[in-house]
Amino acid sequence: MQKPLINEPVSLENYLGVFQYSRRAIGLVWSTHKRLTIALALLTLVAGILPAAVAFVGKLIVDTVVSAIAVYQGTEELVFAQVLIFVILEGVLVAAVAGAQRGIDFCQSLLRVLLSQRVNILIVEKALTLELSQFEDSEFYDKLNRARRQASSRPLSLVNRTFGLAQNSISLASFAGLLVQYSPWAVLVLVAAGLPSFLAETRFSGERFRVFHWRSVERRILNYLEIVLTREDHVKEVQLFRLGPELLRRYRDIFKQLYDEERRLTIRRDVWGFGLGLLGNIAFYGTYGWIAVSTIVGQITLGQMTMYLLVFKQGQSAVSAMLSAIGGMYEDNLYLSNLFAYLEQPVAAWEGEATDGPIVEDGLRFERVSFTYPGANRPAVQDVTLHIEPGKSLAIVGLNGSGKTTLIKLLAGLYQPDSGEIRYQGLEFSKWEPDAIRRRISVIFQDFIRYQLRVGENIGVGDVDMLGHKERWKEAARKGKAADFVDTLPDGYETQLGRWFHDGQELSSGQWQRIALSRVFMRNDAEILVLDEPTASMDAETETEIFDHFQSLTEDKMVVLISHRFSTVRRADTIVVLNKGRVIEKGSHEELMTLNEEYARLFELQAKGYR
Ligand code: ADP
Repeated sequence: MQKPLINEPVSLENYLGVFQYSRRAIGLVWSTHKRLTIALALLTLVAGILPAAVAFVGKLIVDTVVSAIAVYQGTEELVFAQVLIFVILEGVLVAAVAGAQRGIDFCQSLLRVLLSQRVNILIVEKALTLELSQFEDSEFYDKLNRARRQASSRPLSLVNRTFGLAQNSISLASFAGLLVQYSPWAVLVLVAAGLPSFLAETRFSGERFRVFHWRSVERRILNYLEIVLTREDHVKEVQLFRLGPELLRRYRDIFKQLYDEERRLTIRRDVWGFGLGLLGNIAFYGTYGWIAVSTIVGQITLGQMTMYLLVFKQGQSAVSAMLSAIGGMYEDNLYLSNLFAYLEQPVAAWEGEATDGPIVEDGLRFERVSFTYPGANRPAVQDVTLHIEPGKSLAIVGLNGSGKTTLIKLLAGLYQPDSGEIRYQGLEFSKWEPDAIRRRISVIFQDFIRYQLRVGENIGVGDVDMLGHKERWKEAARKGKAADFVDTLPDGYETQLGRWFHDGQELSSGQWQRIALSRVFMRNDAEILVLDEPTASMDAETETEIFDHFQSLTEDKMVVLISHRFSTVRRADTIVVLNKGRVIEKGSHEELMTLNEEYARLFELQAKGYR
């Protein structure tokens, strides 16, 4: 993978090396819409050639007029007709230039929309192949955001500039073809006068990119603060804790830092740009004088003078347009290096193919499983060995941070163990086809998502294949004890939830938990049900009712449960107590009470609270 060119100083090698992405950007545009790309290329060619033709016809007009004046003796109808034809021809050519330019704009506008959509889809498709741990890595998260923020406009910009460069090169070559007849030196002056501003342009492009890159942490903080200050689910705390002014102050401070840097850069760029631009003016007027003198001494005709001046002036604009296109391409390439760095982010391949295990009755096993979060200094789960047979339930208890949720994430295949094995039906996880294993596991996390969708779909997400299946929603809601309250909602299962959209309803935490619990029952073929604090927001009576009912629904399944309520935990066939990632006790409620250690202590502590 090509390393993004970020921290290297801007040298000539970088100037050249950095154009490596132009070809890929053109490939991207080409595959987005072939016909538009071809049209763009043809129009560019036309728009490149025509200006020289216009200048040449201009010369013919002036020369014809001048010679006609010199020999004018009365009515020279032939000359009138000739001049008029040239004038009309020039008019037609100018109209054609305008038409080609319109056509270019048209193609670009459509391509811009298509391409921005395409790149965003590429970014999202890539995101779908990544692992949870990659999203949790802040450096990677930065990469993703940088790719998203700019890359949808950059590829087209790069292509526009590439075509613009081609168009101006064609114009310049045709101008040079005319001008060289006057003097090769004039051509040299034309090109040389543009170089200094080009160098300045590229230098500042690189600098701006680096500022942008280095500052991405600050930009992320700004983004985050905006969210905290304006999002509906944050408003409650922001108002009550009176956080607003403090957060706004931080927002302003960070913005000011970014702004100051931007301002310094802009000032420097513009001062240099103006100074070096003056050079171009000097070159133009120097050449103007030279051409004027040549005309007076009779070296060239008046028509040639008009043409050379026009050609020199337009040639100068073409040179500066080309050079600033190159500067801009340099910048676009730097940004694109981000996009491709993201798209080429390696993905850990899970290549198993098995859809069934050899020993069905073996259920689920953890064998000496350990896992450390990237960058953490101690394992979150260490040397854990567990076994759950079909039809049995397992409860995990432990203090906050003891590794319960991590254990579940391992079980769900969201992380891969650093050492040890997780086996299902006698087959290691990595040998299973990912979809086949995911289909067998149904999980609700404590921080399950409250989708801003209809109630029915909020239940339906539990099984994406049945997302819109109304009968299944109802059945799942009955099992998850959500049916009663859903029936009282204004539009039943069609009620929109959340506040983002018109007429959205908000639910209580307990009601949301029932929706989440119903999701588990969407998938009839799930064999392992994993519940992370599924009833924490429910009252004790509802909880008992739900678990009585739950047991009868899950007789042949494996249930893994995390809960802080011992009234729930004690029902499980096996209970494991985690401490700092290790299993310190394992057994049934009775066994652990007899053991009279950590479990018994925690149980008594809670029981005392109720007495
Ligand atoms: P529990 O669910 O028992 O409260 P967790 O499994 O969430 O505990 O956390 C176990 C340990 O792993 C804690 O020390 C926690 O700080 C750490 N941890 C949890 N999630 C992450 C994460 N995404 N990245 C890094 N460390 C984490």
